[in-house]
Amino acid sequence: MNVWYTEDHSPGVRFSIKVEQHLYSGQSDFQKIDILQTTEFGKVLTLDGLVMVTEKDEFIYHDMIVHVPMATNPTIKKVLVIGAGDGGTVRELTKYDSIEQIDMVEIDKMVVDVCMEFIPQTASKLNDPRVNLYYEDGLKFVRSKENAYDLIIVDSTDPFGPGEGLFTREFYGNCYKALHDDGILVNQHESPFYSEDALGMQRAHQRIVGFFPICNVYQAHIPTYPSGHWLFGFASKKFDPIQDLDAAAWNALGLTTKYYNTDIHVGSFALPNYVKEQLQDVE
Ligand code: SAM
Repeated sequence: MNVWYTEDHSPGVRFSIKVEQHLYSGQSDFQKIDILQTTEFGKVLTLDGLVMVTEKDEFIYHDMIVHVPMATNPTIKKVLVIGAGDGGTVRELTKYDSIEQIDMVEIDKMVVDVCMEFIPQTASKLNDPRVNLYYEDGLKFVRSKENAYDLIIVDSTDPFGPGEGLFTREFYGNCYKALHDDGILVNQHESPFYSEDALGMQRAHQRIVGFFPICNVYQAHIPTYPSGHWLFGFASKKFDPIQDLDAAAWNALGLTTKYYNTDIHVGSFALPNYVKEQLQDVE
């Protein structure tokens, strides 16, 4: 069998993964959901024909979206996760005994159900007793929240389709309001490399900078995302991700992580010049 999954990473670039078996295909009210068994990346979740999660490289994304804020403020107790239907972000959060409450707001219940069935590697901790699952639009959910969370993680799809609202000024303003006085907002921040992605990334940064006094961007290499060069936004009311990192305290927790360590934490905030310029252009 010679079957390949192919995704456009830019109008002139395509990325292909060899497929062993098409395990699932379904259409929810929001998007097309597929699970592929692939030769190199294990099981892969795609939404509307875009790779969301692969068994082989999901650890990079989930480590970086969770452990960077948790190591910056180890006293985080109440967390809101928006999107994240595959469960990988919740899996990493549940490693912290200090976290008391994880509210996860996913618009599409079918993504969660499919991941629980096909990708237990990421979905295995969604039944942790500290996790409350809400099947709603994250944009609407945060409207009514005030001074309620220590950390908000936006683990969304891209800024079109159901995820579009999670990149708006209204949404970031409501996240600011929903956070405590020392709250942190971390979001998947798109890629700086191909021009369409870079525009989305700059727009998000410009909007976040309008609300939060501390706004940083950090990076990781994620092989299956367009260009492999991916960014995360770190916006905060009080904590600086480098100055306030207590590496000794985080290391003393003894957590097992496959990608994150406190050296990577510091290094990930060192950005290439062209990315610094893209960010400065919109600040
Ligand atoms: N790691 C992934 C990435 O960056 O490609 C994101 C994965 S996760 C599966 C993204 C989830 O966000 C999807 O399951 C999608 O249904 C959910 N989502 C999109 N828009 C949403 C919204 N407005 N409110 C809540 N969840 C949303």
